[in-house]
Amino acid sequence: MTARIIDGTALSAEIRGQLAERAAALKNNGITPCLAAILVGEDPASAVYVRNKVAACEKAGMRSIKDVYAPDVDPAVVFARIAELNADPTVHGILVQLPLPKHFDSAAVLESISPEKDVDGFHAENVGALMQGNPRMKMLESANVPLKGAEVVIVGRSNIVGKPMAMLLLARSCTVTICHSQSKDLAFHTRRADILVAAVGRAKMITGDMIKPGATVIDVGINRNSEGKLCGDVDFDSAREVAGAITPVPGGVGPMTITMLLANTLESAERVAAGVAKGVAK
Ligand code: NAP
Repeated sequence: MTARIIDGTALSAEIRGQLAERAAALKNNGITPCLAAILVGEDPASAVYVRNKVAACEKAGMRSIKDVYAPDVDPAVVFARIAELNADPTVHGILVQLPLPKHFDSAAVLESISPEKDVDGFHAENVGALMQGNPRMKMLESANVPLKGAEVVIVGRSNIVGKPMAMLLLARSCTVTICHSQSKDLAFHTRRADILVAAVGRAKMITGDMIKPGATVIDVGINRNSEGKLCGDVDFDSAREVAGAITPVPGGVGPMTITMLLANTLESAERVAAGVAKGVAK
């Protein structure tokens, strides 16, 4: 069997086209959706992610603000900036690129973003909520993967990927197992999965023999192989011989993550527009 490819680039292009139309409609009502991105430090991968997010905004007809801080910046400066952006009615989405330098309390920073503007969905009020804009969920939905009663195994328990994904799938009546670095016999778990989500950050650690025939594999990992090329946590070549459907890296979850960030910013702006319209009607 050769797995069906869940093409994040194609799905993104389709959704971004619709977003651009909606952004144009909002602009006609005098509101330009705006995403503010905060980058602290000089991590090259983070700099590329932020650059791509800002470029995608512009392309979709949305405005963006990019604030870059030195790695040793006083966290109070960043908190003050977030408070300013929270209060700015022309800003609809705020993202803080992770990871932050060690002297930051990342959880406190994420909590300081207004939940309405938390377009990454990291605020405690948003994590695990049935957010429209979760990129991994959107891919499962687009591929018509049955969720009710499905055995799901998630490898990785981080607050930003593994845990929210588990909550979302639990809410969709999947049976969810979360594995991590201390899990015994990882392959025993992964081989039971109808849906396998890999979110570890270790190149090609999930191999074809660890996958149940016909399973859907969502590869969240972004790594570099020994030749410096982008690759996921899943060994794509062996996995695609066994899986029923699989997201590639690159061209899978990555582009969808940016797309859903834009979608969430736009939705936030649309909520503001609806509020404004109601205000006018009163
Ligand atoms: P993270 O915070 O480092 O978490 C990694 C998780 O993997 C931890 O729960 C860890 O277990 C677990 N783990 C480590 N080694 C393991 C092993 N040998 N067996 C089983 N589990 C193991 O990473 P993250 O922030 O969640 O990111 C994970 C990956 O997704 C990275 O490659 C990152 O670049 C990528 N990512 C991609 C996107 C996207 O848009 N595509 C977005 C965010 C992140 P412990 O908890 O026990 O340490």
